[in-house]
Amino acid sequence: MSSSSIPARQSRKRKVSPTPSTPELSTSQSKKSRVKESAVTGKGKGKSSVKIGRAREWPEYFDSLFKTFKALNTVIAFCSSRKHLALTFSVVRASVEGLLKHPLELAKVAELKVLLPDLILFAYIPSIELRIHADGGAISKKTREASPDFTLKKPKSISSTQLPSEDEEEHVLVLDFVDSPKGHKSANAGFVRSMPPAMTPAATKKLIEKRNNRFTDAVNELLEATRSDEDPVMLVQEAARDYIPVDPSSTTSTIDTKGKNRQSTVPAAHERPTIDTILEEIQKQAWYNNQIVHRRTAEAKEGQTGVLDNPISDTVKQALQQARKIYSLYTHQAESINALAQGKNVIVSTSTASGKSVIYQVPLLTFLESNQDATAMFIYPTKALAQDQKGALEQLLASCPSMENVVVATYDGDTPQEDRRGIRETASVIFTNFDMIHASILPHEDLWRRFLQNLKLVAVDELHYYNGIFGSHVAQVIRRMRRICAAVGNRRVQFVSCSATISKPRQHMENLFGIKGVEEIVEDGAPSGRKDYLVWTPPPIDELDPSLGHKSAMSEATRLMRFLMERGVRVILFCKIRKICEWAMKALRTELTAAGRLDILKRVMAYRGGYSPQDRRKIEQEAFSGHLLGIVATNALELGVDIGVLDAVLMLGFPIGGIASYRQQAGRAGRRARDALAVYIADGFPVDMHYVTNPDDLWEKPTGDLIVDVDSKIILEAHLQCAAHEVPLTSEDEKYFGPLTKEICEKSLTKDADGWYHTHNKYLPYPAKHVTLRGVEEEKYCVVDISKVNSGGNPRLVEEVEVSRALYEIYEGGIFIHQGLTFMIQEVSHDSKLARVVRTDANWITTPRDYTNVDAAQTFRIREIRASPHRAYYGRVELKSIIYGYYKIRNNSIIDTVDMDTPPWERETIGFWLDVPKPTLELLKDTHINPAEAIHAAAHAMMNRFALARDLETECKVAEKEYRATESRRKRPARLIFFEPSGKIAGVAAKAFDHVSDILNDAVNSVLACPCEQGCTACVLGTSCKESNLVSNKPGAAIILQSLAGLPIDADLLVPQEHQGPVAAFETIEVAPVVQTADGVELEKDS
Ligand SMILES: [Zn+2]
Ligand SMILES: [Zn+2]
Repeated sequence: MSSSSIPARQSRKRKVSPTPSTPELSTSQSKKSRVKESAVTGKGKGKSSVKIGRAREWPEYFDSLFKTFKALNTVIAFCSSRKHLALTFSVVRASVEGLLKHPLELAKVAELKVLLPDLILFAYIPSIELRIHADGGAISKKTREASPDFTLKKPKSISSTQLPSEDEEEHVLVLDFVDSPKGHKSANAGFVRSMPPAMTPAATKKLIEKRNNRFTDAVNELLEATRSDEDPVMLVQEAARDYIPVDPSSTTSTIDTKGKNRQSTVPAAHERPTIDTILEEIQKQAWYNNQIVHRRTAEAKEGQTGVLDNPISDTVKQALQQARKIYSLYTHQAESINALAQGKNVIVSTSTASGKSVIYQVPLLTFLESNQDATAMFIYPTKALAQDQKGALEQLLASCPSMENVVVATYDGDTPQEDRRGIRETASVIFTNFDMIHASILPHEDLWRRFLQNLKLVAVDELHYYNGIFGSHVAQVIRRMRRICAAVGNRRVQFVSCSATISKPRQHMENLFGIKGVEEIVEDGAPSGRKDYLVWTPPPIDELDPSLGHKSAMSEATRLMRFLMERGVRVILFCKIRKICEWAMKALRTELTAAGRLDILKRVMAYRGGYSPQDRRKIEQEAFSGHLLGIVATNALELGVDIGVLDAVLMLGFPIGGIASYRQQAGRAGRRARDALAVYIADGFPVDMHYVTNPDDLWEKPTGDLIVDVDSKIILEAHLQCAAHEVPLTSEDEKYFGPLTKEICEKSLTKDADGWYHTHNKYLPYPAKHVTLRGVEEEKYCVVDISKVNSGGNPRLVEEVEVSRALYEIYEGGIFIHQGLTFMIQEVSHDSKLARVVRTDANWITTPRDYTNVDAAQTFRIREIRASPHRAYYGRVELKSIIYGYYKIRNNSIIDTVDMDTPPWERETIGFWLDVPKPTLELLKDTHINPAEAIHAAAHAMMNRFALARDLETECKVAEKEYRATESRRKRPARLIFFEPSGKIAGVAAKAFDHVSDILNDAVNSVLACPCEQGCTACVLGTSCKESNLVSNKPGAAIILQSLAGLPIDADLLVPQEHQGPVAAFETIEVAPVVQTADGVELEKDS
């Protein structure tokens, strides 16, 4: 069962009862509960009876465990009478190891804790707590030095009376016994125990004996409770995993890693085994169970050097050699430079890390050599990328003696106001982004005139990033820029662009820039190392009982990642969403701690959106310097930020961005002469399974075409308002903005007596402020750590979370994870957008239970569907998201289901819909098809046929809601509905609505023609489905789509279906109600 899908799949195939300890259940959850139950009852009996004997013969394992317990018992009893502190693990361990003559593993202690959970305190507690509570707060210097845990710390963090800052604060692993003699738990058992009174030797001996008896009883109880087909040792070992304490404070742990049995070290980068050797080794592991279902090897390739038509100057040549160690150019580099020298515009689409920056840099240096006044713009989609590349260019310029005076500057949102003027007046090269060009450069053409008049080269990196709505905005910004350059007399700007491997790069660049005749270069001349691509599927939980499903993809991923890191392989693990990224990081923390590999734990970090820019830069630098061995990331790292050489990429689940994302992520591993590995670890979702059964699609299927919509009236009008403010428009400007220009100008701009169009008043004085390229910036919630407030410390900001995520990530009682560290959410204030959290070592995570109702509220347009009696509607849509509770999850099992009452999150947007007619609903019922499954599948089938659909959403059906065991009052209309995310309305819904007949008919054809049985991404599955397509039915989708299109329904679809998958006990769909129509709406013909 997959960890990244817990809520939905649990509800789909609910084998796990939320109430633990049901004896007939056979999952790990119930086993564990039984272990705990027996342990608890064992404790009770131990107290009341004097039974010391053994109920039955103990497996040898428990005898040895008992030996360990006895040693621990003796050491703790002995120390307790002398120490004034809760005992730290390292103190206890040293003594216990002395008695046992072998190492004391964390895992062993965890097993003991499984048996005696109430007796054994084994957890990280903040060192400051230890200090405050111990012996009335006074702690002698001597005591501190006696504990190895304390001596490891920086002096500052223990001697200072100030509260440690986040980095300095540390936790100490405590191992102690906390029995409460009167039979009740001590009030503060979780943290600091009260000090026992000094005991006589006789009393100490008695105490030891009593505790030993408790252990014996606990084992007896367990053996009695264990079914004959189960192994008690396995039960304990499995349950122990959850008792391995995880340091909640930081990646630096306070455990002494230099103990015995910990000599293993990670090989240095250049000493690691080859990927081939490692793959062989993997297949010999006990845990290997044919997970590799597909392997494809790309052999190493030699570099191919090209020749320049016009040799570069000696200065530039020397600079390249000195600064970059470049002695020759690869074919694609040489071809691009040649084409630019001929005055062409160029697009280069080659693999990651094929030396693309040279393609911008050499022409720039050539321009500057012949004309010191020349200027250039280097445009990157993110600030981090721009920073990266600026550094590389500066290095190169520093090696060019004639160019010391060339000014290179970053010009982005972070550039201080006082620096901007200097940059405008002196810079030769700026590193910037389209948002700045749109809002800051073009509106101030007068201030930028020198720069624009001399602009020779515009380099746009990562061209594939400019796609969909954002790409459509950027296309208009580029048109505005070309127009302004022409207006100041510069008609010779050249454009050069690089992108990942995409389909039709020339077409995309021409669409985006509005230019023709772009030179396309796709032959990659760079050398590459050998690379293995694997498809990895989690093995079945039980070979003999396939109904139990498969092991979790996440635990496969983290185990593989550990295995690789231990061998010195630098790994990045890509996760689909932020939450999974943190869960994986948390799992790695637990596993590496359990394995005693704190040396590795220190070199692993999570990286995702939501972290502050400073944190991100820090992680990037750590990665680039080679310090990090592992990064757990979301697609925030898909773009080319240089994080140094990575050897392996693991993808946990199929990337949301589809095949293009898969290739982009796989491309992050491997460079030049090194071998590399890319592993796609399939989750159990329908989309994931498609690529398991059709692995060739991963490499051979073309990626979808990148789309920009330059005819979107909403986007075009917005930019015409901006353009008119830069220089008034005339009908001549059609050559930049296309044939719709005049119509929009007439309608929405202000015309003067001379026929010039000016910005409409409502956009003044700063039209660019009314237009955001990336959608409206959202408000954010602050997540604040108040762990230390009670002890006099300050609250600390952990993270800021966008409103649209806050509902799902921040709810009282939930667990919030940051860098794999867990926080309990204590209080959420929606008014002040503040969540208060405290550190916790909880060994569960939480995931919300939610749904979103998407309701048509008012009809603005009605449109005929070609050859069909049915209609499509367009109008206002209301969204209402409700979190009605959350699950507590441990080890992929639901351990608790919590209900919650939070205010719904409501917002409005624009969308369109098609109502499923009543007879069609009845037809579905007659064929035993769940209408919710059919509607959801039909909606995704339509979205799959519309190129801009990544900017649209539908009402995704939630498995927990559709397959619930009790009837719900929530009935949803039988309606396919599509909407634009609120706050990002850009006319996509209107565009789709204009073409609704085509989209519908395409969908019908693709579903009927698709050879798959259950549905795939080519027909009814959405790669970005929020509910992972768990509620889906392909024949049902075909029936709905055919009926809406007015087509006769295929007879073979109407044979009643044998039911597959979960059964819906109750109906959740009702006939769609009539939506109120705005005045004066007329039926639009489909012509
Ligand atoms: Zn299909
Ligand atoms: Zn969906």
